[in-house]
Amino acid sequence: MSCKAGLRHHPIRIRQPQLTEQLPGTGRPAEIFKIDLPLPDLSAWQGGAHDIPGVCIFDSGTAGPEIVVSALVHGNEYAGACALERLRQTNPVPRSGRLTLILANLSAFNAFDRTRPLHSRYCDEDLNRVWHPGRLSGHEHSLELDRARRIRPFIQRADLLLDIHSTLWPSEPLFIVPPRPRSVELACALASGKELPALVLTDLGHNGGPRLIEEGHFMSAGGTGRSCLLEAGQHWEKNTVTVAEAAILRLLEQAENIHLAGKSSELDHPAVTAIVTDNVLARSSDFTFVEPWVGGKNIPHAGSVIARDGDDLICTPYDNCLLIMPNHRPRRGQLAVRLARICTASQS
Ligand SMILES: [Zn+2]
Repeated sequence: MSCKAGLRHHPIRIRQPQLTEQLPGTGRPAEIFKIDLPLPDLSAWQGGAHDIPGVCIFDSGTAGPEIVVSALVHGNEYAGACALERLRQTNPVPRSGRLTLILANLSAFNAFDRTRPLHSRYCDEDLNRVWHPGRLSGHEHSLELDRARRIRPFIQRADLLLDIHSTLWPSEPLFIVPPRPRSVELACALASGKELPALVLTDLGHNGGPRLIEEGHFMSAGGTGRSCLLEAGQHWEKNTVTVAEAAILRLLEQAENIHLAGKSSELDHPAVTAIVTDNVLARSSDFTFVEPWVGGKNIPHAGSVIARDGDDLICTPYDNCLLIMPNHRPRRGQLAVRLARICTASQS
């Protein structure tokens, strides 16, 4: 089946008449998020390899893939850090090549306060929007930009990068890849593993700037570096750590096959690929979904109303439209939801 953004048969946004008895839904109560996951003790990472905090290296001493697993790019998403800390304690020397573990933003993590859990996503700016070569080689400074410069050499040598994240709002776990076939291969090889999410999403990136998975090394035509991001579940649920650990294990088991052949040697279930066709931004401060959608929800019929944005109705533009990571309290101008079209189940 074709996976182009075309073939839509319903508009996404319908302007409603201005006159209405309904007032905007201002004054909705503050959201309270449950935090079930204890903070990990990351004191062992403070020294780090080459005196760089948050970096641990396990070298097999034989030729093989450069594997990099990163977490904590966002300081309050510490489920991935729990998984990396447990892994570090097992002395995970790979069969061949070298494994580098990176806790990317320890400064933001150290500021985590469970009474204000959204405030430690970053210190100065989003570390997952700074990976533009011009910014990285420029003269600006921020805590995150300087940190990116420090860990960039480890990123640039990666053959395989798995960057572990989590979501604030409930969402089925999924892999996200930049639009490069070699990275789609990596994510499909992971997604076809036991107890791992099957969905591999190619997206449109973010307006704010390139993510770690879009560092130039992974985007260059003819390059070999493969990258993918795992949204492993809700930030503070224990199961998110389990999903992250399963993905890391799969990567370590299959690294040589993926590096050399672009696929895994065994398949538990086929991966499902999808492509983001639309980023829906909130135009009003009153964007409300008509149901508390969980990310990954498949809306079967084109033209289904999924949200209201001020006076506008937000509709699905095609049949079998996936709602990707709905943001249930977007500010005006923020990304409220991504819409994705399923491409195909792929054999990896
Ligand atoms: Zn994140």
